[in-house]
Amino acid sequence: MATGLPTPKRGVMDIEAYVPGESTVPGNIKPIKLSSNENPLGPSPAAVAAFKACADQLERYPDGSASALRQAIARVHGLNPDRIVCGAGSDELLNLIAHAYLEPGDETIFTEHGFLVYRIATLACGGVPVVAPEKNLRTDVDAILARVTPKTKIVFIANPNNPTGTYIPFDEVRRLRQGLPENVLLVLDAAYSEYVRRNDYEAGIELVATTNNTIMTRTFSKIHGLAALRLGWAYCPANVADALNRIRGPFNVSAPAIAAGVAALEDLEHVEKSVTHNERWLEWVTAELEKLGLVVTPSVANFVLVHFPKEGDRTADAANAFLQSRGVIVRKMGSYGLPNALRITIGTEPENKAVIDTLSAFMNGDQR
Ligand SMILES: *Cc1c(COP(=O)(O)O)cnc(C)c1O
Repeated sequence: MATGLPTPKRGVMDIEAYVPGESTVPGNIKPIKLSSNENPLGPSPAAVAAFKACADQLERYPDGSASALRQAIARVHGLNPDRIVCGAGSDELLNLIAHAYLEPGDETIFTEHGFLVYRIATLACGGVPVVAPEKNLRTDVDAILARVTPKTKIVFIANPNNPTGTYIPFDEVRRLRQGLPENVLLVLDAAYSEYVRRNDYEAGIELVATTNNTIMTRTFSKIHGLAALRLGWAYCPANVADALNRIRGPFNVSAPAIAAGVAALEDLEHVEKSVTHNERWLEWVTAELEKLGLVVTPSVANFVLVHFPKEGDRTADAANAFLQSRGVIVRKMGSYGLPNALRITIGTEPENKAVIDTLSAFMNGDQR
């Protein structure tokens, strides 16, 4: 008979738990939080009102099929509601996909600086993460294709990627799909797709509609400003939606999240305002950082990856400490294999000005 403490299954203890962006600074100052790519304008007021209106019905279970939300998503994006699966954030959907399709020992492929959740979801299922190098901090389709083996089950790519902010044009995504075996699921994580203003970009709807092995995931945490509610959705082939619906929790999306999500989707004006704000300030923040002599990876999302000198007193760690001591929180990138970079979310106008002023003081030698 086996003895000793209960042991997690293989893979679990290899996981380095996800460390979210920080949200507090020492002392009593209200921090400027630019560490989690949240919408600086907040959610649509209609979404907040819909959320509040749920307060007097908390004893009721939500609609387990999230029907109103799937209908709203289908309406706004022109999709088949039967193929939409909703989740408690896209994080839950990414994990559900891994749980539904990975046997122990199966491989998943994602890119060098890809979103950390892909690794965690893979290991949690006893899968083997395979990392494809990037080229100039961009997804490299050939590097992914070169790593496919008979054990490959899932390829995860974020397009645009977090934390690099780069994207690949849709003909590259199509080439990836065409080069992958039919039994390999391609997961297109389009968490930042609403922000992209490029003619050669697509989130992936058409590819999902025309293949039976491609999934697109989306979130309400970014452009819709509802990160606190945990809400995401996946557009899936019918066979995949069927599998995910069998293993998801029967009430995995809460009633306030459903209500707020519907209202947020319908407030196209708020979405547009958020995109316009981002377009303007992404350009400004990038230009100002470059004026300070820093290298910025060109971003199409709502954050920038900024590179600091490896040595001397202007390192990313020193910059991070300097910012923190002045109440500005950004994201350290060591866990993404980018120890000389910081990721900065585009904020409100005063927040953007504050982060630039503070970094300017840092680069110009003010010591604390
Ligand atoms: C923020 C983010 C998500 C969204 O996660 P949620 O669980 O929906 O909050 C998904 N993928 C990437 C790459 C992200 O950066």
